[in-house]
Amino acid sequence: SVDRPRPLVAGNWKMNGLKSSARVLSEVHAGYTPGLKAKVDLAVCPPATLVGAFAIQSVGSRVAIGGQDCHAKETGAFTGDISAEMLADAGASYVLVGHSERRQYHAEKDTDVCNKAVAAHRAGLTAIVCVGETREERESGRTLAVVKKQLRGSIPADSNSRNLVVAYEPVWAIGTGLTPTAADVAEVHTLIREELKRLVGKAEQAKVRILYGGSVKPSNAAELMAVENVDGALVGGASLVAADFLGIAGAY
Ligand code: PGA
Repeated sequence: SVDRPRPLVAGNWKMNGLKSSARVLSEVHAGYTPGLKAKVDLAVCPPATLVGAFAIQSVGSRVAIGGQDCHAKETGAFTGDISAEMLADAGASYVLVGHSERRQYHAEKDTDVCNKAVAAHRAGLTAIVCVGETREERESGRTLAVVKKQLRGSIPADSNSRNLVVAYEPVWAIGTGLTPTAADVAEVHTLIREELKRLVGKAEQAKVRILYGGSVKPSNAAELMAVENVDGALVGGASLVAADFLGIAGAY
């Protein structure tokens, strides 16, 4: 048996945050005490406009910075897009790929997500590959099939425990205050661990971090983080308030 991977709590700020939000990041730094550092990794994924400033502000803090999306190509005529190399150059070490809001509002398919993860790896970033079923898919009993298909389509063959994190985010739990039961989370995370065996190999799969995301708050974090194969959280709304973000990390 292998030790549980070191947990990661990542904040997804989505389209929130201005220069003045440096204050929130300062509070996160201040609250990331040696005791917490010993237990859990922290990452903050602000909007692209703040990645560079947040990375500079976080030097020496051990709070990692991530982007929320990247283009699959390194450079080129893609107005408005940002490459993984640009994120890495700005000081990011993570990038979210395939978040359900990107899949929904930007029509990203599993192959797009996979290409973006490849780009992330090429740039030396850790890709946080997001998967999760819709309410309709859960209600019709298709959750495991949907997640399995997303994993097989979205995780590139060059993945390992250093350049890949998987985030399970049921779409119906994002921003709704609803969360699956611990048993439901355990079922999906066990499936993800099982799938990782074929995707990254037996030796690596046990070390890949599998995050749960969707309405994680300080009040439910301990229960969710205690679930088998849950190696951290991807936090949206609650990551915008330093005390809540730190409260979730403190569940470890
Ligand atoms: P939420 O968002 O924590 O606000 O539900 C999670 C996410 O979309 O990553």
